[in-house]
Amino acid sequence: WMLPLGLFIGLFIVALVTFLSHKRLSPLAELGVAVRRKEFLVHYQPTIDLRTGRCVGAEALVRWRRPDGALVRPDLFIPLAEDSGLIQPITDQVVDIVLREMGAALRADQALHIAINLAADDVCSGRALAVITRTVGRHGVNASQIWLEVTERGFVDADAARATLARSRELGHTTAIDDFGTGYSSLQYLQGLPVDALKIDKSFVATIGIDAVSGPVIAHIIDMARSLQLSIVAEGVETQAQADYLRAREVDFAQGWLYSKALPADEFLRFYRSMQGS
Ligand code: C2E
Ligand code: CA
Ligand code: CA
Ligand code: CA
Repeated sequence: WMLPLGLFIGLFIVALVTFLSHKRLSPLAELGVAVRRKEFLVHYQPTIDLRTGRCVGAEALVRWRRPDGALVRPDLFIPLAEDSGLIQPITDQVVDIVLREMGAALRADQALHIAINLAADDVCSGRALAVITRTVGRHGVNASQIWLEVTERGFVDADAARATLARSRELGHTTAIDDFGTGYSSLQYLQGLPVDALKIDKSFVATIGIDAVSGPVIAHIIDMARSLQLSIVAEGVETQAQADYLRAREVDFAQGWLYSKALPADEFLRFYRSMQGS
């Protein structure tokens, strides 16, 4: 009986050490464990066509489900992932989840699109696009139904980024510049980028009808996008007054709590389908 007892004690010590060392992991090490254990999930925020008022797709937004069940918002771990090189495996997992959850719906309805966020690293390395192409192909989905959202902040290698964006356009993806207006984006800069759409950051949408100083900024952004023949998506639309303003200025698409927060896959598809017949 000594042998089972020894084994039991040994296992107990291993469990104790694991428990204690887990308590002491740094945020970065914890995130590394989360990547290995695939603790991420995706919620989908509906995108509304402002002309018709109908849902045309969604943006995939990642969340981290910790072992204790807590759901961590991306703002709390994406910056760390971006600074540490962990963003690329996270992007891979998001792409995989999106195609697993939405593949069938995308194949069945070619008008539906899902937008995936790419970090600067993903764009510069070109690796994410290769992963997307492979995964989209494996699921028999059209590349044109996968939109890409990229932030220009952190494009260390502008030439590499431009090459990825050009390739993504060739493949048929619609690419949007995310968080427009929050970085150093200028008209001149935008002119050189092969992108199709521009996403107005929610901080500008929030100024509509309220802030006399930055209010005109959003009008300027809309004019700029129009002069470059880019589609426009407004994010963070919370009030009917904001929606009316954007619609009057012929902004193409909107997202925000006025319509819906980000939803789990099945709830999003129910939301989407409920708007099709109407
Ligand atoms: P983002 O790309 O600018 O996404 C918009 C954020 O605004 C989302 O926050 C969304 O939930 C939130 N939002 C939507 N509607 C409203 C509204 O009406 N009012 C307000 N106040 N907020 C609204 P979320 O999901 O917390 O994501 C935060 C950021 O994390 C995203 O900002 C994006 O930059 C990043 N992120 C999310 N998912 C991914 C991902 O899969 N990959 C990468 N690289 N980044 C991601
Ligand atoms: Ca985005
Ligand atoms: Ca934003
Ligand atoms: Ca963003």
